[in-house]
Amino acid sequence: MGRIEALMGNPARDQCPGEILDMQALVSVRYYSFDGLLHEGRILVDRRLALDISTVFAAIERERFPVMSAIPVADARIGWSDDVSMALNNSSGFNYRPITGGGTKVSAHALGQAIDINPLLNPYVSPAGVVSPPGAVRDVSRPGTILENSFLVKLFDEFGWEWGGRWTDRVDWHHFEKRL
Ligand SMILES: [Zn+2]
Repeated sequence: MGRIEALMGNPARDQCPGEILDMQALVSVRYYSFDGLLHEGRILVDRRLALDISTVFAAIERERFPVMSAIPVADARIGWSDDVSMALNNSSGFNYRPITGGGTKVSAHALGQAIDINPLLNPYVSPAGVVSPPGAVRDVSRPGTILENSFLVKLFDEFGWEWGGRWTDRVDWHHFEKRL
């Protein structure tokens, strides 16, 4: 899938300003998945964050931190649905959509300034305790779980990204963002 295809078919595309679409870069990444094999995927992000994402995934590959998949959400299997992407444990960046849990604040994903990693292993928990994706359980002993003292969090910290795992009103273990 090329950059143009990765931006196609978004039902909310008409509401997305052209300058945001123009800013998105498709970053090729490699990672070991849960089958133990090296895979290639793609993450759509604000091009000013492309180097951060490349560097993070180079570390993910080197450390053999397992990532399920990195399929752009424009893929027919996902169809721009964050629910489907999360249920597949898929890692992704740009998606023009409202913030998880409703509200009017636009998600950093809508700007391509956020990435979700292994959401099924690192769920979002709302202030009311509702878990997304449904049925997801965080088990710190499982490979692919994002931990406070991990190379992954340290690297994102170094690059000035914010980790949803440290939020206090709600917690979003799979989410990293860097608003520019
Ligand atoms: Zn997210």
